[in-house]
Amino acid sequence: MAQQRAFEYIQSGLTHFFRVPQSSPRPTSADAAVIGVPFDAGTTYAPGARFAPWEVRRASALIQPYHPVHSVDVFADLRVVDGGNAVFPPFDADAMRESVRACVSGWLDAGARPFVVGGDHSVALPVLRALARRHGPVAVLHVDAHFDTSGPETWGTEHHHGTPFRHALQEGLIAEGQLVQVGLRGAWAGPGERDLLAQHRARSIAMSEIDERGLPHVLAEVRERLQGKPVYISFDVDAIDPAFAPGTGTPVPGGLTTREALALLRSLAGHRIAGMDVVEVCPAADHAGVTSLLAASLLFEGLALAALQKHAG
Ligand code: MN
Ligand code: MN
Repeated sequence: MAQQRAFEYIQSGLTHFFRVPQSSPRPTSADAAVIGVPFDAGTTYAPGARFAPWEVRRASALIQPYHPVHSVDVFADLRVVDGGNAVFPPFDADAMRESVRACVSGWLDAGARPFVVGGDHSVALPVLRALARRHGPVAVLHVDAHFDTSGPETWGTEHHHGTPFRHALQEGLIAEGQLVQVGLRGAWAGPGERDLLAQHRARSIAMSEIDERGLPHVLAEVRERLQGKPVYISFDVDAIDPAFAPGTGTPVPGGLTTREALALLRSLAGHRIAGMDVVEVCPAADHAGVTSLLAASLLFEGLALAALQKHAG
């Protein structure tokens, strides 16, 4: 679906993701739906990510359609709609998971890939459940400062923003050996932090390893490891250094630059993209909207990968 022209969106006074039309009910002709999930009851520190869908919509109006590196007209080649926000009481995690699973399944049945704007990272689990039901276990690029494989030991609950990938691994939603994590850093809860990941042959690439080996070598490995299955990209903006992405609830010093993040996503050109999330944007902690703009730009990179794939047939 074409983007609204600049004067059209200014006149309407409402901003949909990337100035594309909002669709309700679901059309059968969309290739991708951008869906907001306004939920932050899974945050363990600063809340506020529930407001990200509104801010990211606003920031995304700035983004033009043509990708200069992949040479694709994203919104001409890919029919993208704003799928609205998933609806549930904002304090009810069970209802959120059911709503997101049903919403994403509906879009998948209609033939559209989900591009989800959180919300905190706990919104990724129901997306992965819907995707695995459709495709079988998927390959996952998980960009994050944190492993997100915690159990109930710290907070006494199975579900919060630090647990989605433990559930995803244990439920078999991710293809064996095809969880690739990038951006990890900071202190661990204990020496066993990577045990579950090792059991599932996940590959966890810390910032220190990127410093030692250099980004090009790491990107080549990421690309290689994610081959074969459809790839889901789960992007926690706290992977980015707080200097570039201050608007997040659990910041950790020493992260990726925004340039490195763009290079990471661009390195997946030619891969089959099953969908994407961008999570943990906390507008109240942001400065000058830079983190919301980053989130919109990351989504655009993901949409460009999908457009490239469609363009190639
Ligand atoms: Mn996370
Ligand atoms: Mn994180």
